[in-house]
Amino acid sequence: MSNHDYAKELIVRPGNKVRLKDVDPAYHGKHGSHEHALPEIQAHITNIDALQYLMHAEGKHALLIVLQGLDGAGKDGVIRHVLTGMNPQACTVTGFKQPTAEERAHDFLWRLHPHVPAKGSVAIFNRSHYEDVLVVRVHQLVPERECSKRFDLINDFEKLLAVENNTAILKFFLHISPEEQLERFKQRLDDPSRNWKISESDYKEREYWNDYTKAYEDVLNRTSTKHAPWYIIPSNHKWFRNLAISQIISQTLADLKMKPPTTTVDLTDIRRKYHEAVIRENGKKKKVSGLKL
Ligand code: AMP
Ligand code: MG
Repeated sequence: MSNHDYAKELIVRPGNKVRLKDVDPAYHGKHGSHEHALPEIQAHITNIDALQYLMHAEGKHALLIVLQGLDGAGKDGVIRHVLTGMNPQACTVTGFKQPTAEERAHDFLWRLHPHVPAKGSVAIFNRSHYEDVLVVRVHQLVPERECSKRFDLINDFEKLLAVENNTAILKFFLHISPEEQLERFKQRLDDPSRNWKISESDYKEREYWNDYTKAYEDVLNRTSTKHAPWYIIPSNHKWFRNLAISQIISQTLADLKMKPPTTTVDLTDIRRKYHEAVIRENGKKKKVSGLKL
């Protein structure tokens, strides 16, 4: 099994300037095929399962996963395939759509805060507060002057979650090519079970591809921080996307060095009081049932 470190390779280092045209959306690293990557993906998902269990038991850390990308980039696919390793008991998924009138009457972070993870839990955002500096900028829904203030506000908000609530934050930008997006829309058209996913607005948004690219570059360049880094995930190959994301999540959880909490009860006493009594009882029953026979 290869131990290629995709976290190191795909992270946007704070202060670095990223140009998306320099990142190949069809990149698949050292792995040649889905078949080749599958055992590794499965191993990461098994690790995620064990580590999330530990996170829940320890109750000291939280994990926030932010998924961003254009329509068809695979946000739903990541939730369905990679996050199968998560126990639903300590995991929430929140999708962010066009804000309601009530949400619009508040600051843009208001609708986010109730959904951030509690200690011991994982929260996944399918779209996020970043829409407020992406779609909002592309369609000029808010004056540019106000939008530009939001980058610092977002960095401060994420810092609050990291510093105040021990939240590890991973932000994944799922990078696909326009050709791959069109191909995926076509598959939705051709597959009756996926027709429901088609929306005309998805096609209309394609016309703004360059504006979205520019807006995403600003996001990646201004909001990748030590406490909340962005990762650019080449996502034309779904299996590579799943491999990279599962590796990064598993590694991040392992780096937290979590430990199961120590017990507050006297184990020797419990064993003596209850289990030895049960063993004795069982022994007696066996004798009795032996007599009956
Ligand atoms: P989908 O994720 O495909 O179901 O679509 C949700 C839609 O809601 C996308 O077109 C987003 O761009 C849009 N959306 C999400 N958040 C916001 C926001 N804060 N302002 C405007 N549109 C948003
Ligand atoms: Mg959509």
